[in-house]
Amino acid sequence: MSAQLLDGKAMSDELRQEIAARVAALKAKGVVPGLAVILVGEDPASQIYVRNKGIACEQTGVYSRTIRMPAESTQQQLEDEIRRLNADKRIHGILVQLPLPAHLDESAALAAVAPEKDVDGFHMINAGRLMNGQPGVTPCTPKGAMEMIRRTGADLRGKHAVVVGRSNIVGKPMAMLLLQADCTVTVCHSKTRNLADFTRDADILVAAAGRARFITADMVKPGAIVIDVGINRVDGKVVGDVDFDVVKEVAGWITPVPGGVGRMTITMLLKNTLEAAERAGC
Ligand code: NAD
Repeated sequence: MSAQLLDGKAMSDELRQEIAARVAALKAKGVVPGLAVILVGEDPASQIYVRNKGIACEQTGVYSRTIRMPAESTQQQLEDEIRRLNADKRIHGILVQLPLPAHLDESAALAAVAPEKDVDGFHMINAGRLMNGQPGVTPCTPKGAMEMIRRTGADLRGKHAVVVGRSNIVGKPMAMLLLQADCTVTVCHSKTRNLADFTRDADILVAAAGRARFITADMVKPGAIVIDVGINRVDGKVVGDVDFDVVKEVAGWITPVPGGVGRMTITMLLKNTLEAAERAGC
């Protein structure tokens, strides 16, 4: 392997220790950071994510509460629950686990979360703040990916960053963070023609398309920083969007899946919850 590994587990362990110390300092002032996760229905992947979030909270001393709602819950019931949590002083962060069952309106649910408790950073106010370069809550996955990019120590100014994927939760906020870091940013998507022409020119390549191992060695510039956001299940195994075994021979830096961005995402959720509690101060 020629690429250096960006180990999300090792980075997370270090960051979680720092978070735990800040949580303890806050507790000493009488504030216990609290995260509420709303899970509607029985989606098996969501159940695993929610369980992992609970474990991470426990590790760092963050109070966590999971609200399980039946799959047939109405929009009104969901928004009533969100509003209850908005008013709950023990809760500093609210996360609505996506995807919601098809009959529910995701955007309306996310808009019901108080922006200061929106630890996922999906509320329009926080999306707008990110767009305008104002302080706000940054979505956890791009925030974690950015932390990994920074930890390479590379000077990011003027580097060509290519983001593959333009979703509101990963691709677009990722592009904004890279722009704020003075990269020259290209966003590619499912209608992009000749994708490899763009990816091959990337000093920093972020793959967030949800296509198993579709970034191959010939699509990567030698020495590039390759960040794999993808989580895909192939034959019962979790794989990324990057064909790791071959791309690691070309890239300068690479994140594994699992143990890469996914791990950092949960760490950033803890950080966003802690910061929300520090801001609230009660
Ligand atoms: P999404 O389906 O909302 O968006 C996928 C994007 O990829 C779209 O913008 C689409 O235009 C683009 N795309 C699809 N096929 C493409 C192709 N062949 N070429 C170029 N672009 C293409 O997905 P999302 O929510 O942004 O998630 C993307 C991936 O990241 C998924 O695998 C998801 O599971 C994973 N994910 C991981 C984490 C984590 O914590 N690591 C968090 C969120 C999402």
